[in-house]
Amino acid sequence: MAERPYIVGNWKMNGTRAMLSQARAIDRAAQNLMKVEVALAPPYTLIHPVHREAEQIGVGAQDCHAGNEGAHTGDISAGMVADAGAKFVILGHSERRQDHGESNALVSVKGAAALEAGMRVILCVGESEETRDAGKAENFVTRQLKASIPESLDNPEESLTVAYEPIWAIGTGRTPTVDDIGAMHRAIRATLVERFGEEGGAQVRILYGGSVNPDNARELLAADEVGGALVGGASLTAESFLGIVIAAAELQDQPA
Ligand code: PEP
Repeated sequence: MAERPYIVGNWKMNGTRAMLSQARAIDRAAQNLMKVEVALAPPYTLIHPVHREAEQIGVGAQDCHAGNEGAHTGDISAGMVADAGAKFVILGHSERRQDHGESNALVSVKGAAALEAGMRVILCVGESEETRDAGKAENFVTRQLKASIPESLDNPEESLTVAYEPIWAIGTGRTPTVDDIGAMHRAIRATLVERFGEEGGAQVRILYGGSVNPDNARELLAADEVGGALVGGASLTAESFLGIVIAAAELQDQPA
């Protein structure tokens, strides 16, 4: 695992102010688990309230618009989420790609907007079950990654995290084998090195996402080139999310 694993909770379209107590509990526990970088991406409406609660954890958004401002009813710009306290944006999540028809090109320009607003990007990639069954998963994911990285991005170690999230593993309770995760993460690493060179490409953390929970976290986080996890369902309570954070911290304590 990476020097400092990164565990990020994606609350998706879940959470009202009643959930701030969960964020507070996660933040307080993270203060004693400093070996792990912990972050939450609540819905837009909770970014500022969670930011106000957070003394330790990072706070981010789940998406942003590609433009700065203007006539886009219902949309939120990168500058707006940064102003609310977001330090990063999750982009290219498969639910955005599927529900909103987001293309690689759009994800890439959204990423440029996020960087321009001073935020980091967590870029999601992942194949469908059909693509995996056809033996084309690595090819698909590496092409998706290349086409989704913002063109202006030139300091990947500071600005970019990649999340490998096979679509068929999201919210299903199914996960790839540790070997399959390792193989995909190595392919992603090779793509990053090709794009950014040995040094820059080697420093980007690659998260695994898809049905991570406190019971399987240890095994999944130990897979080759896994630098942390992007967690959906299991991030909605402090108890289950912290189970994953603790698993990451324990792995850090293990001799290499
Ligand atoms: C996600 O959608 O980012 C995710 C990983 O979801 P889950 O953990 O619920 O599979």
